[in-house]
Amino acid sequence: MKCPICGSTSAVLDSRHILDGHGVKRRRQCRLHGHRWTTTETAGTPRQIAAQKGQTTALRHEKAAILEGLKGAIQRIAEL
Ligand SMILES: [Zn+2]
Repeated sequence: MKCPICGSTSAVLDSRHILDGHGVKRRRQCRLHGHRWTTTETAGTPRQIAAQKGQTTALRHEKAAILEGLKGAIQRIAEL
């Protein structure tokens, strides 16, 4: 993967499974300048959210997971 900042090649520093093995999170580093960032890889199947009566708990967990992902992304951008 190319560095999102300068476009040069990168190396994978660390790789671990997430989502019970259904995804991979990788820590990467720019070979030229040492920029670091994280990528998340999951299958391309869209996740469906059904907002029906009785499923509010599942929807609340889904929203919490999305917010946690956004917080992590913002923090990583702030660290650049
Ligand atoms: Zn770079």
